[in-house]
Amino acid sequence: MIPVVALVGRPNVGKSTLFNRLTRTRDALVADFPGLTRDRKYGRAHLAGYEFIVVDTGGIDGTEEGIETRMAEQSLAAIEEADVVLFMTDARAGLTAADLAIAQHLRSREKTTFVVANKVDGVDADSACAEFWSLGLGEVYQMAASQGRGVTNMIEYSLAPYAEAMGIVKDDGEGEDDEEREYTEEEAEADQKRLQDLPIKLAIIGKPNVGKSTLINRILGEERVVVYDEPGTTRDSIYIPMEREGREYILIDTAGVRRRGKVHETVEKFSVIKTLKAVEDSNVVLLVIDAREGIAEQDLGLLGFALNAGRALVIAVNKWDGINQEIKDRVKSELDRRLGFIDFARIHFISALHGTGVGHIYESIEEAYDSATKRVSTAMLTRIMQMAQDDHQPPLVNGRRVKLKYAHAGGYNPPIVVVHGNQVKKLPDSYKRFMMNYYRRSLKVMGTPIQLRFQEGG
Ligand code: GDP
Ligand code: GDP
Repeated sequence: MIPVVALVGRPNVGKSTLFNRLTRTRDALVADFPGLTRDRKYGRAHLAGYEFIVVDTGGIDGTEEGIETRMAEQSLAAIEEADVVLFMTDARAGLTAADLAIAQHLRSREKTTFVVANKVDGVDADSACAEFWSLGLGEVYQMAASQGRGVTNMIEYSLAPYAEAMGIVKDDGEGEDDEEREYTEEEAEADQKRLQDLPIKLAIIGKPNVGKSTLINRILGEERVVVYDEPGTTRDSIYIPMEREGREYILIDTAGVRRRGKVHETVEKFSVIKTLKAVEDSNVVLLVIDAREGIAEQDLGLLGFALNAGRALVIAVNKWDGINQEIKDRVKSELDRRLGFIDFARIHFISALHGTGVGHIYESIEEAYDSATKRVSTAMLTRIMQMAQDDHQPPLVNGRRVKLKYAHAGGYNPPIVVVHGNQVKKLPDSYKRFMMNYYRRSLKVMGTPIQLRFQEGG
């Protein structure tokens, strides 16, 4: 389970500065969700050995009427959904009434909160921070977000207890690409067999009202539902195990269809964090789009997160019933125009309401899952690399030809191919794209992005 860290504080204390620094650590894996969230920003970060979602809650001023404006409400909702709150203050400005109001709110929520005194650069940090102890939230951590000072430590401090409680194993950044040991045909085959018994975790996501609940009810109505659980809070998706034609699935229901007691339904059915967590926890994402609304910014925002997470992806354009040919044509050309860049994902036109086309989605889901997790031996990956190289020689760099030597798998879901050779880092993007497409075609990979990494030597 990926932790959610919310940055909270009055305007101008440095929240966006910290947000940008945290999310930049992973090549611009920042997802903006225009339309869904005017004031909140969501990104994915990797620091101090932890992967986490970071939310910039926008400003809570604390001086609004009991923190009750609409914008503040949004920020407060983000606080509710967070696992850890970083409460940011400004060491230069000192303690303000707004800080005290926010602190009071945080204390009443009993959220795991860490007080950060930001902008300690160029001031006497210890004395500047002393007064923040009176917020009554414990230790005050010093930071200079714009200089990157104290940032890694802060994440380490704040996430370690959470990670320990959740049993999250910290990755030390090693062992990522360096599985250079030969992965044999036999091993690949054995692993492949084992995969058959694992359930496919399928996250069904989409903006509000696209038909997620209708679709899930349709799926559950037709297939045997084994059991479903009931998490306590609205921020959690519901995990529904089911079986279909001998294959096990776990539906990750972000719409909260099967929440018994329905009392919470009206609260906030849709939540970005819930969706992000579902994506992170899935193998395959089914993105539902409403044909009647065309492709909205929100759809693109959600799509962006699935892509950033490297998930396998299937797209369902729903409410395909009862619209005329003209609208159908328009939707199709809009898909071409706006989603043309993800040529790997299958698109289904369905009616969740009538069930039309729903059965065929499974074929694409299984294809995407199988592609995303397919075990391929070192020998095979090297052979394909060699064929690509024979078909189309790598270019000269500084008068020397780039030479590719061998390739091996660096991970799955998404599949990562690590290519070793001389001067490989200097390969132009066009050649990298050519290689990637070569792998895609040779391995018949559909429904998932592929990542290619290049390593010098070998
Ligand atoms: P937000 O409104 O809380 O998101 O605050 P911003 O991130 O926009 O920062 C407000 C101002 O403080 C900007 O001018 C930043 O450059 C500046 N700032 C942020 N962090 C630091 C810091 O660590 N030291 C100093 N000196 N300035 C900072
Ligand atoms: P969710 O918010 O994504 O879970 O969306 P719902 O499943 O609650 O559906 C929103 C509205 O769209 C409801 O009124 C549904 O009856 C309607 N709807 C869902 N699927 C279809 C469909 O395939 N065709 C039509 N015409 N309406 C649909």
